Amino acid sequence: MNNDRVNASIITIGDELLIGQTIDTNSAWMAQELNKLGIWVKRRVAVGDVWDEIWNALDEESKQSQVILITGGLGPTADDITKPLMGSYFGGKMIVDEGALQNVKEIFEKYIKRPMLDVNLKQAEVPDVCTVIQNKRGTAPGMWFEKEGKVFVSMPGVPNEMKGMMTDYVLPRLPKMFALPAVVHRTLLTAGIGESYIADRIKDFEAALPQHIKLAYLPNFGMVRLRLTATGKDETEIIEEVDRLFIELQDQLQDVMVINEDKTLEEAIGILLAKKEKTVSTAESCTGGYISHLITSVPGSSGYFKGGIVSYDNTIKENVLGVDADTLDNYGAVSEETVSQMAMAARSIMKTDFALAVSGIMGPGGGTEEKPVGTVWIAVTGNKETVTRKFQTRYNRNRNIEVTAINALNMLRQSIINDEG
Ligand code: AMP
Ligand code: MG
Repeated sequence: MNNDRVNASIITIGDELLIGQTIDTNSAWMAQELNKLGIWVKRRVAVGDVWDEIWNALDEESKQSQVILITGGLGPTADDITKPLMGSYFGGKMIVDEGALQNVKEIFEKYIKRPMLDVNLKQAEVPDVCTVIQNKRGTAPGMWFEKEGKVFVSMPGVPNEMKGMMTDYVLPRLPKMFALPAVVHRTLLTAGIGESYIADRIKDFEAALPQHIKLAYLPNFGMVRLRLTATGKDETEIIEEVDRLFIELQDQLQDVMVINEDKTLEEAIGILLAKKEKTVSTAESCTGGYISHLITSVPGSSGYFKGGIVSYDNTIKENVLGVDADTLDNYGAVSEETVSQMAMAARSIMKTDFALAVSGIMGPGGGTEEKPVGTVWIAVTGNKETVTRKFQTRYNRNRNIEVTAINALNMLRQSIINDEG
C-alpha cells in the first residue's frame, strides 16, 4: 500500500463498551479529527478492562500504526488498569507529577469540597517514561509515550476530557512529528432525493474523479450529504483542484442542493431567514416541540425564531390556537384543514413572517385504516400562501418524529426561498 501513509489505531478500553452499555463515541470523534489531519485511521479496537487484552492490543496495533490513541481505564477505581499497564509496557516506574497533583487538589477544593482519598491522590501518579498531558476538565492526566518512532497516547474515557486533551495537545503535535499530506474536504447537503438517484445523476462526474479525490455519500433522514475529499502534497494545488470539481458538482445538483457547506438543514434555514430578515414560529402536534428544538439548537436563532406552541391535545389546538371545533370534528386532528389553521394561527399569534405546523400519527398505536401510523400533514404559511403536504412515514416512533421534522423544515425552506417579498 501507500508507504508514506501515516496510520493510526484507536484502542478503546472498558467492559461497558463491549456489552454496549456505553456507546463508543470516542472512536468516532477521534477518527474524524485524525482524518482531518491526513492521518489514515487503519483500525479501531475495543477491549475489556483486562490486562492481557490491553497488552495484546498495544502489541498488535503497534505493528499496524505509527499513532496509537487509547482511551479509558484511567479512573481511580480498581477496574481501571491502563496506567499501571502502560508503566509496565513502556518500562517506567510510578512518580507523582506535580502538575497533575496540583490539578487534582484544585478540583477537590473548588468543586468537590470533600477530603481527598488516597485513590484520588494516586491519580497524580504517572510512569516516569511519559510526557504528561494535563487534564483541564478532570482529575486523570493523559500520557504521551514514544517508542521506536511511534506515538502512544493514553487518555481518559470521559469524552469531554479526552476531547480537551486531543484539541489542546495531541492534535497540534502530531503534524510536527509526522510528514502528513494536506487533506481538503468540500461538503454539500441535498434534500428530497435518494442517494441512488444522486449517484445515477452524477455517475460521469464520479467516474472522472482523479485517484486522490474521493466522493462520499452520507445519507441521513431523507437528506444526503456529499463530501469531496482531496489528498495531496501541495495544499494550494489540491484546494484549487477540489474547488473546481465542487463547483461542477453543485451545478449538477443545483435543484436538490440545500447548502454548499458542511451545515445542517436548520442551520441553512437560519442563514436564509437571517439574510432575508424574516421570522418563523411553529405549532407542533406530533413532533412535540422537536422542530422548535432543532431550530433553537442553532446559535443566533433568537434573531429569527419567535416561539412554538406544542398543541398536542385537541383542546389545545382549539383553545390556544383557535382551530375550529367543526374542523377537528369533521376532518380530524391529522388533516390538511387542521394543520393549515394551526399554521395560520401560529403566524398571527406570534406575529411572524412564516409559520409551520405538523400533525400526524407517530405510532406504534393510534393508526386507523383511513389514517395509518405514519400519516402526517404539514403546513407552512407565509405572507402570500399556505402550502400543505401529506407524508407517509414508515419507521418507528422516534424516526417518524425525526423524518417529520426534516420534512417540515424542508417545506419551510422552500417557502422562504419562494417568498420574493
Ligand atoms: P474510564 O476512563 O474508563 O474511567 O471511563 C470513564 C467513563 O467514560 C466511562 O464510564 C464511560 O461512561 C465513558 N467512556 C469510556 N470510554 C468511552 C468511549 N469509548 N466512548 C464514550 N464514552 C466512553
Ligand atoms: Mg473504565
